[in-house]
Amino acid sequence: MDKLTRHNFENDVKTEDFNIKKFFASPIQDESNNTFAAIMSEAMKGINSLKPTGRNSSAFLGKNPELTVTRENARKAVLRPEGESFTEVLNHVISTFEGLPNWGHPLNMTNICPQENYAAIAASMLTQMFSPNILEAEYAWNTSIAELESSAMLADMAGWNSEKSGGICTYGGSGCWMYQLKYALSRVLPDSRQQGIRTDAKVLCSEQAHYAMLNSTDWTGLGMNNIIKINTLPDTNTMDITHLEQVIKECSDNHVPIASVVCTMATTDACAFDPVKKVRELIDRYPNNPEYGKALLYCDAVIGWSWLAFKDYDFAANPQNFPETVLESARKNGEAIREIQYADAFGVDFHKNFSPLISSVFVYKDRYEFEDLLKRESSAYLQERGDYNPHNYTLEVSRSAGGSMAAWATLKFLGIQGIQHVLAHGLKNKHYMLEQLEPYPDMTCINTADNGAVLLLRIYPEGTDAALQYQKELADKNFRNTLAEHNTIIEKTADLLWKWFREEKQIDGKRTPYLSITKGFRPAVYNTDPSDHEAVIYALKVYPVSPYITKSDMQHALYCIRMARNEVV
Ligand SMILES: *Cc1c(COP(=O)(O)O)cnc(C)c1O
Repeated sequence: MDKLTRHNFENDVKTEDFNIKKFFASPIQDESNNTFAAIMSEAMKGINSLKPTGRNSSAFLGKNPELTVTRENARKAVLRPEGESFTEVLNHVISTFEGLPNWGHPLNMTNICPQENYAAIAASMLTQMFSPNILEAEYAWNTSIAELESSAMLADMAGWNSEKSGGICTYGGSGCWMYQLKYALSRVLPDSRQQGIRTDAKVLCSEQAHYAMLNSTDWTGLGMNNIIKINTLPDTNTMDITHLEQVIKECSDNHVPIASVVCTMATTDACAFDPVKKVRELIDRYPNNPEYGKALLYCDAVIGWSWLAFKDYDFAANPQNFPETVLESARKNGEAIREIQYADAFGVDFHKNFSPLISSVFVYKDRYEFEDLLKRESSAYLQERGDYNPHNYTLEVSRSAGGSMAAWATLKFLGIQGIQHVLAHGLKNKHYMLEQLEPYPDMTCINTADNGAVLLLRIYPEGTDAALQYQKELADKNFRNTLAEHNTIIEKTADLLWKWFREEKQIDGKRTPYLSITKGFRPAVYNTDPSDHEAVIYALKVYPVSPYITKSDMQHALYCIRMARNEVV
């Protein structure tokens, strides 16, 4: 990018005194558009040059694995009197991507990260050219179709009447949590919008629910102590419905209102789907006291929503020829997510599997209720020039169309079949690794009951019967200390793999994989509060969803995990 200088870019906009026009995008088709396009084309080459040239490479961008940024150094920044050239700025921007994880790389099997489809990248980038603002019709004009149609498609996938439902694109799965809580509080504590929250309404979710529960109860002012965590079942990690019934009944008996019950669909590690239909029955059986509104049923489906693509799949005919292992899990996930129809609202993250950050939709079943409950006065300086003006009930004011365009482009580009194949690919990789584990009794996959693509692996010193040892460590208090010891081995193995990944170590002529660790798959069975922070299950987390992963990458990853364990033990 060194050829296109500041001078070159300024050809068309001659300086009189200080020409501020040179900084800004031209509103008309002139030469500067072409110059911009040419520089951006160079910039794309620049950023793409951070990708490796072949598969035998480490799963980070560029050449330098070091983290060069420190808060200490960054604090010294001061604004200079004279600006840099456009290309200098872009070169600086591009250089900051050096060393960043390369999410789609076949050796990247780390925690849930965005795989970015080309259509979504392009769609969200294009919105930056003209900044449509989806706060109301005048500023969004026809671009609001992305939010409206994405919401309609998602509602339809959920089995709702899309004529009556609606959706809001927001800042992630945590934004969706915030929306559900605000919706719930406005419904259950009708005066709370004017007078503030004066009643300790409760939020019920499973102990495996996402920690976004903390953000929203904290920031709404409801208070984090108003979360009640429902136990999960040890084999499925889903909400224990008996415990839920106890809690709901107790609230009902004591006239404590429930703001919402949140079903996680699915959990981040275990791909567990809470039983929405049964939750609905309990909410109906034990309603809030009449002075309060009806408790909201929310599904945190930000990861699991895409299984809706399998909801109506013809598993008998299997038109897409998925292998049996995929079919079984897809059928179960499809059945589990089908229960989302009983919810009042659900959250969707496109950026968990498909699109660039941030692309999330909060979808609600009854738009008349939601939009009415949250309605505010219109602003004096905004005129409503169309029938879609969400600024009257959204949390945010200005909203970029970037996320909604990414969502819309993803749905249009992939279609149901595309989504199915993306999900099937992760399952195939998982099952392949499970097969490869067979000759190694010192390793065990602790989430074989799950139907997601995540593999949670515990690896023990050679000669250990891992499955047996794990059962003891999970359930028996006498094994608390060996549990902690083996947790340490797993943590050290993960740290060594991390180090190898960053050092670009080669094993058998190939770079090593980039994996994660989970330090809280579940507490040991006896650790009920769970107050003992060491009596919890650690596991290596392999999340093999990159569309570029092959069987040989899975085999190699397994081999590298074993090599790392050997060095640690
Ligand atoms: C990722 C995640 C969230 C938080 O979503 P963000 O998009 O990171 O804000 C909430 N719930 C679940 C189940 C998640 O996996």
